[in-house]
Amino acid sequence: MRRVDPRPLLGEPLPLDLLNTHWIERGELQDLLETVDGVAIWLASSSIPAAERPAAGEELRLRLCETREAIQAVAEHPASVDARSAFNAILARGHRRRRLAEAPQPGAGGRSLSTVVAEPGWEVPWTIADTYLDLLDRSADRIRRCQHPECVLWYLDTSKSGNRRWCSMSICGNRAKAARHYRRQAD
Ligand SMILES: [Zn+2]
Repeated sequence: MRRVDPRPLLGEPLPLDLLNTHWIERGELQDLLETVDGVAIWLASSSIPAAERPAAGEELRLRLCETREAIQAVAEHPASVDARSAFNAILARGHRRRRLAEAPQPGAGGRSLSTVVAEPGWEVPWTIADTYLDLLDRSADRIRRCQHPECVLWYLDTSKSGNRRWCSMSICGNRAKAARHYRRQAD
């Protein structure tokens, strides 16, 4: 039986989606990756193609938690030498092998890419770290943490203005609006 993904924000790019396995509910930090069942829920709702999704297990859970911690550290402290080296330690666990495919691939430009990891089981965590690197290349200044003080969610600001402040208007945007309203009433 598959439980519904309980998280408030879904659909962000994969590395941010991994960070969003942490969220706050009724004032308490929740963690979808606390259990192997939670890992299965996360895999099912992630953007990882179904054919590439590994089975959820305790080892994968620990590796995902380690990767999440490393990404979160560089996202929060981009200049931290420790954060950068912990992130690089994850990246050092694998590489992308680029080859010319054995036969021409329609629409794929003849290229064949595969992920090679030193230790089996790191494919998905490594890919997430690698994807974060791509995200930094393309849109480092659009990786944001929700500005609500009681929110820990991350998103890629794809708005035209680049002024998005909240994980979602319906959650934190409205909470902030209500708080401003309340303050005005109290003045
Ligand atoms: Zn928020």
